[in-house]
Amino acid sequence: MDDAADPMHFELRPRDLAPYRAGNVGIPYVHRFDSGRPGPHVLVNALTHGNEFCGMVAAAHLLDAGVRPRIGTLTVSFANVEAYESFDESRPFESRQLAHNLNRIWSSPWLEGAEHSPELRRARELRPVVAAADHILDLHSTSADVQPFWVYPHFARNGAAALAIALPRVHMVMPSGLGSGTPLIQHGLHGTPDHHGVALVAECGQHFKRTTGEVAQRVTWRFLAHFGLVEPDVADAAGAAPGPSAGTPQRRYELLETRMVKTEAFAFTRPLVGFETFAQGELIATDGGEAIHAPCDDCTVMMPTRRAIVGREAVYLTRPMA
Ligand SMILES: [Zn+2]
Repeated sequence: MDDAADPMHFELRPRDLAPYRAGNVGIPYVHRFDSGRPGPHVLVNALTHGNEFCGMVAAAHLLDAGVRPRIGTLTVSFANVEAYESFDESRPFESRQLAHNLNRIWSSPWLEGAEHSPELRRARELRPVVAAADHILDLHSTSADVQPFWVYPHFARNGAAALAIALPRVHMVMPSGLGSGTPLIQHGLHGTPDHHGVALVAECGQHFKRTTGEVAQRVTWRFLAHFGLVEPDVADAAGAAPGPSAGTPQRRYELLETRMVKTEAFAFTRPLVGFETFAQGELIATDGGEAIHAPCDDCTVMMPTRRAIVGREAVYLTRPMA
């Protein structure tokens, strides 16, 4: 599919991040505020993917509003600014990454390996920032216009925090990782069962919608309030109150498998945006000679790729959790 053939509205566009470049810890685009009082160290990270502008909206909002933690430490970072700055409206999905997916290289073999790319350089630069945080909120968005949802490893600490924060109200839980690399939220101790730190991805809506930036801001305020860095009433006053969806039950899905694109011929059997369900054995996609069938009833697809690129993820297959 040709990117340019899709009608695309850009309610969110990149803004100049030069004012945030210097930061205050010696690493570009990283800002840290220590309350001087005991408490958790929370990292709010934006732009792990360069065209996912909602995190930029939320992070810039925190910095522009001069938000400071009442306890603990707050770090705000813009991750893949180099990819972000390559954004081109005629090819709006290209600036997700330049060479590597910055959200799959947070393992020692990649971080300490011999390869070089803009993303590996930035990951190596950000490594101490990610490692220093107790709790991490990594803000993302989706190509398709679907409801916001959490993504996190299936550790009790993550589930408890995400359920309590309660926005988004849909959860994709990963019992055994992504299967396609190590995401930022599973770097080091954050990927281990006994660590104390909570690390969550929030997928806040479609990349270029204004409401996606608003969701990212609300999720960020609620995350900070949950860990006590801001007072709940301050967060609510900033627009973080639960809103009309608060009464609806939260829904959790567990990731069963991540299917990768193996051939140029990869194709879904029908157009998918995410959250479609398939019965056990139903055909979801074909990939060259391979057929991808639903492994269970109520198999729910998440984040189907909008354009199949060999070697990248095709779709997540999940099922509802009891
Ligand atoms: Zn992303």
